Amino acid sequence: MSDEHAEIPDDHPRAQSLRTRHRIEAGVDAGITSKQGLIAEGRGEAFDYLLGEETIDSADDAARAAAAHLRLAEHPVLSVNGNVAALVPAEIVALADAADADVEVNLFGRTDERVRRIADYLRDHGASEVKGLAADARVPGLDHERGKVDADGIAAADVVLVPLEDGDRAAALGELGKTEIVIDLNPLSRSAQAATVPVVDNVIRAVPRITDHVRDLADADRATLVEIVESFDADAARADAERAIREGELD
Ligand code: ATP
Ligand code: MG
Repeated sequence: MSDEHAEIPDDHPRAQSLRTRHRIEAGVDAGITSKQGLIAEGRGEAFDYLLGEETIDSADDAARAAAAHLRLAEHPVLSVNGNVAALVPAEIVALADAADADVEVNLFGRTDERVRRIADYLRDHGASEVKGLAADARVPGLDHERGKVDADGIAAADVVLVPLEDGDRAAALGELGKTEIVIDLNPLSRSAQAATVPVVDNVIRAVPRITDHVRDLADADRATLVEIVESFDADAARADAERAIREGELD
């Protein structure tokens, strides 16, 4: 991918969002990210702007609850789409290692070619095994292409992390009874609404933060993890994020 974003000076007021845009653009050029991914990015940017481009406290609580769920999981899976691959490839691999989770490519506009490219790109960033190509199971309630998942991956998972998932699939996975961790900057999106744990934060900040919490909880006993999970209030977290977005004071 191109490194033109290296030229954006750090003191540029929109430095981070410009770099992020360039990564998505480069992802499209590399055949990893779809064109719709550009639109999704623009939508996310607007919410991030209103959040002051920082992690609010309730999102950090959500990241900790997400980490506790991952720690308690028997079979956690991290779902990766084109935007996630373009923005946080090494960070997803680090989280998968820390949480002992599978990584599965799961695309809205699925083509085998794009799944393969993303899998290769994740391997270039250190992933040992990437699922998503078998596509030998279906999520009920979704049409054929959009419902494809791996039988020994998402289909068998008890906890799934779905960053930037579309609303239909997030709802369908929730109906399968899976614990769903969603990272989405829009607390009102159907994905965030369907989540067991909505992390209303930029995926760029949220993934490393969840990893930090997973590491921090490495020695925590089951009772502590269960307590973190049970004390997390998803409705309160969504409401707090919505309040921050509507009322937030920008620096
Ligand atoms: P839904 O289908 O769940 O109701 P939507 O139609 O608003 O939501 P899409 O346009 O399908 O959502 O996908 C984009 C979503 O991803 C938006 O909610 C946007 O805020 C979010 N998003 C985009 N980029 C990021 C990012 N870097 N970090 C976190 N969230 C992001
Ligand atoms: Mg949508």
